[in-house]
Parts: sequence; C-alpha cells; structure tokens
Amino acid sequence: MFEFVRKWRRDRRLAGVQISPALWERVEAQLPFLDFLEPADRQRLRELARSFIAEKEFHGAQGMTLSDEAILSIALQACLPILRAGLDAYRGWVGVIVYPGDFVIPRHVMDEAGVVHEYDDEVLGEAWEGGPVLVSWYDEGEAPEGVNVVIHEFAHKLDMENGDIDGMPVLPPGMSRKAWAKAFSEAYERFCDAVDADEETLLDPYGSEHPAEFFAVASESFFEAPCDLQEEFPEVYVQLRKFYGVDPAAGQRRLDEAQA
Ligand SMILES: [Zn+2]
Repeated sequence: MFEFVRKWRRDRRLAGVQISPALWERVEAQLPFLDFLEPADRQRLRELARSFIAEKEFHGAQGMTLSDEAILSIALQACLPILRAGLDAYRGWVGVIVYPGDFVIPRHVMDEAGVVHEYDDEVLGEAWEGGPVLVSWYDEGEAPEGVNVVIHEFAHKLDMENGDIDGMPVLPPGMSRKAWAKAFSEAYERFCDAVDADEETLLDPYGSEHPAEFFAVASESFFEAPCDLQEEFPEVYVQLRKFYGVDPAAGQRRLDEAQA
C-alpha cells in the first residue's frame, strides 16, 4: 500500500477516536501511578493510547461487553512500555482479547514420549507471538493485588519483538546487551533464592519461573512501585529506566515531597 494512503487511513481512524475530558480523568484517577510521569510524558501517553485504540481491535471474550473505561484503561497501561519506542513496537498484530476475571486456557502439550497432556491453565493473561494479547479485566476493587496484568503482557510483547521470549528485548542504541544481561541475571538469581527461601518479595514470585517472567514482573513494578524497585534492584532499575525512557522513581519522590 502507498505510504500516503496508509497514513490517510490511520488519520481517519484516529479522528474517529474521541475521548471526553471527563472520561480521561475518570480512567486516569484509577491509575494513580501515572502521576509518577512528567507532564510531557502524560500527554504523549494519551496520544499513544488514542492511536492504540484506533489501530488495535478489542474483543470481549465469554460474552463480555467492554466499557469505554475498560478499553481506555487497558490502552493507557499498554502504552506505558512504549512511551519511548512508540506504537511501531506493537506492529504486526491487532487483537486485544479481554476476559472477565482470570480465565482458563485449555492446554494440549505433547511430551518427549509422544504423550499428549491436557489440562486447564488458570491465567491472568497471555501474549502470543505475532498474535493477540489476552488480558483479564476486573471490576473496580476486584483485581488481585500486587499484579498489573496489562503491563505484564505488553512487556512480553516487547520481549517478543526480536523472536525469543527470554527477557532480552530489542535495546535502543546506546544500551549495552552485556550490561542488561549482567544486571538482570544477578537480580534474577538473588530473586529466585529469596523465593526458594519463602521470603516475602517485592516482586510477584511468579517472576522466578523464567528470566522472561522476571523482566515482565520487574516492568510492572517499575511503573507501579518504582522507588521500591530502585531500592531492591538498583541495577535493574537503571536498565529499565534507559529502556523505557522514563524515570518514574524520580517522579514518585517529587510527588511524595510535594505531599509531605
Ligand atoms: Zn508472563
């Protein structure tokens, strides 16, 4: 397709997404961690969220009707990880499938002996390479505490951009893969030891399943509890700050001082 035709279509779709000031405010009030962002980043996040809604297709699963609030909330959180990279980082797929609460995925797995195991997997979300993102949506106050399923699944999407889902996404120019691997592998090891020892952990213990999961749960915490992450895993925080191009811990500290 000609580039100008594509752009024209995109502009037309975008023009079709109108969000009232009241809706922005209502939805953003439910996401208090957005206050950790600089005003310019808040504005950029809104623009990205509008484009995201224009470009992607939302589907409610199991007969769920999606409210404007749910769509906007998911779009805002999905765009946090791409504040630096932009919407291009999510190219190649369109579907966002939203489930009511946590949902069950029937699995069919063949083992080395050729035996097929079937079981139901209760999950909060899933990201398919080149395919849709599945997330669960909870009514106000019903979401499980300490997890952000939207940020989690979209962090996986970024991780998949270069094929393998391994906790090593495409790094921007100027970032070192070596420094990333060192910061993450040291933190991951320490985290797995803490989980094995049944210690209380800042990050969701599910992060100990795989380095890719550790990257995803660290990303949740980076946006939602940045000062805590910076204290617990300072090297990981530095890497994520460079990768995501924002410094929410600085924003959180500014906010705390202003309120003190
Ligand atoms: Zn995951």
